[in-house]
Amino acid sequence: MVQDEPHEVAELIGRSNRLGSDRRNTNYAGGNASAKGTVTDPVTGEPVELLWVKGSGGDLGTLTADGLAVLRLDRLRALTGVYPGVEREDEMVAAFDYCRHGLGGVVGPALAERGVVGPALAERGVVGPALAERGVVGSGLAERGTGEGFGPAPSIDTAMHGLVDAPHVDHLHPDSGIAFATAADGEALTANCFGGRVGWVPWRRPGFQLGLDIAELHRASPGMIGVVLGGHGITAWGATSRECEANSLEIIRGAQRYLDEHGTGAPFGTEIPGNKPLPAPQRRARAAELAPLLRGLAGTDQPQVGHYTDDDVVLDFLAGSEHPRLAALGTSCPDHFLRTKVAPLVLDLPPAAPLAEAEARLRELHAAYRDAYRAYYGRHATADSPPMRGADPAIVLVPGVGMFSFGADKQTARVAGEFYINAISVMRGAESVSTYAPIGESEKFRIEYWELEEAKLRRRPRPKPLAARVALVTGAGSGIGRATARRLAAEGACVVLADRDGAAAGRAAADIGPADVAVDVTADVTDEASIAAAFAVAALAFGGVDLVVNNAGLSVSKPLADTTAADWDTQHAVMARGSFLVSREAARVMRAQGMGGDIVYICSKNAVFAGPSNVAYGAAKADQAHQVRLLAAELGESGIRVNGVNPDAVVRGSGIFAGGWGAQRAAVYGVPETGLGAFYAQRTLLKREVLPEHVAAAVFVLTAGELPVTTGLHIPVDAGVAAAFLR
Ligand SMILES: [Zn+2]
Repeated sequence: MVQDEPHEVAELIGRSNRLGSDRRNTNYAGGNASAKGTVTDPVTGEPVELLWVKGSGGDLGTLTADGLAVLRLDRLRALTGVYPGVEREDEMVAAFDYCRHGLGGVVGPALAERGVVGPALAERGVVGPALAERGVVGSGLAERGTGEGFGPAPSIDTAMHGLVDAPHVDHLHPDSGIAFATAADGEALTANCFGGRVGWVPWRRPGFQLGLDIAELHRASPGMIGVVLGGHGITAWGATSRECEANSLEIIRGAQRYLDEHGTGAPFGTEIPGNKPLPAPQRRARAAELAPLLRGLAGTDQPQVGHYTDDDVVLDFLAGSEHPRLAALGTSCPDHFLRTKVAPLVLDLPPAAPLAEAEARLRELHAAYRDAYRAYYGRHATADSPPMRGADPAIVLVPGVGMFSFGADKQTARVAGEFYINAISVMRGAESVSTYAPIGESEKFRIEYWELEEAKLRRRPRPKPLAARVALVTGAGSGIGRATARRLAAEGACVVLADRDGAAAGRAAADIGPADVAVDVTADVTDEASIAAAFAVAALAFGGVDLVVNNAGLSVSKPLADTTAADWDTQHAVMARGSFLVSREAARVMRAQGMGGDIVYICSKNAVFAGPSNVAYGAAKADQAHQVRLLAAELGESGIRVNGVNPDAVVRGSGIFAGGWGAQRAAVYGVPETGLGAFYAQRTLLKREVLPEHVAAAVFVLTAGELPVTTGLHIPVDAGVAAAFLR
């Protein structure tokens, strides 16, 4: 039975999207909102009171009805009767599943119509990581699923939304509100700013008891529009959706106005002259130099993707004398430090320090950070605690240069950086009117190693084969390069598409996905500065590079007598010299990272086969093929594997064939140019045309982890050409 969507849901989605799309109101994916209403129970025909609340995961700014958990209020309220007390409050989260109403949001006829799941699955309401692993549903759905249930998992904050007896409730993480929440005298500030309209709830870990506490305050104080939650954020309510939204904004904007009017001028202390930001070009250059080292250090326990920002908020913070004290205090809002770790690593050298000195100091600080993190875990872990998840920093601050943040993928790394900017803004606000006093270390540990958070991590789908790897592909604007970049991205890699034709690279990158997945750069592999600039783009976008594909090429098919010196020079400049230069820069970056890496050469059958009228191209390809062996021998001790792919006659989508080579080869073989693919297929053993995707697949196989002890190998991708068999 299909029911019309209640007006409360439409109002809730509209309000959530408006509040969530303004970062002053809440951090990315932070907070949640709810509405209560009455619908007709399709089973009994009787009215039933429901709670619609944003489920676990997702962002308020883009919330849709699919992202709502739907619960029966009578059952949710009845949980107070079985609540075993704060010591066992985590058990209540499992009980939320028994309060669900209907099919919930995620699985159902709507999704089946969109082809996301089949009708049989939709009827059974089944979705979860097990299915995602088997490829039945994508990871996005699985993240929002619960494993066996239907709809997104009700979040830990569901109790607060259900128990507060108001039709509409918002729980948000605004920087201004958290500044109050983390000020040493936050309760007094709240009273000064809002009088009795906004209450104060001392810090308590999110859960059932916090919901009861807020509900009690709401019940006891009818004039109250919301509360500041110590160490955490705000909650507001209203009789209508419009009133709730207005109350949320009154608290957020009222707190900001209070900070603006009462704040002192220098919350971060006096300026450290030596920590002034470097001019933009120099700080980007320094950031690109430091990024691979930092990515390697931050990836000591698990490989990480990096994100860099030189946001003014960060540079300003690092130029102030108080930044070492404040950074050491750590972030406060649970949402913040789950992504940023409790505290960042802060370089204690000015930007003018020599690069080698900065690098040496970062290594020392990283070792000290790991010791301190292990000690923190040791101080607070109990027998029941989840194992330590890694001792590396997620945030690295470099005065005068900016912030490097790290995560298992680019989006996670970028959001970690955004959250630390939130945290800096919180510190600024709190210090401007009071003293920043985040929640204590033991409480931070209770959040970071909370079994409920661990369960969320366990529910995540298994990472793709190339997750956390950064690939740079030359000649990626068309043909084999483009297909390779697309395949590597599909397998989880972040990709940098380099091409002399920047517009083509841009189109190919946009076709693959957003900047979290693919970026483009105009690069000429015959030019050393251009190559260095391309690797700098990779360093700033993703932290470095660990999979480089030498694909850029061109060809001119001519008999010896007609081959000019310029023909010879151009082909050798792009393919032989170009791949040498790219590999040299790749090895420099990979060695700085200390994470090993892969270099793959797209060579050719013509590297070993003496094709007709082909002296310049064939010789350049043979040069590249021998580079594979030479560099495999030289770079093995750095964990860098160098392999090659020998395609033949990849006509479709090829920039080379479109640029005149196709016509030349067709003339050489005496066939029409349009029939060249079929001609090449007929002369192979397998009688099959070789496509760009076949070459891309070979690159994937060489780099995806199933051939970890293979280096110096060439894989033919030519549909079988006996004359080109390797021996
Ligand atoms: Zn919260």
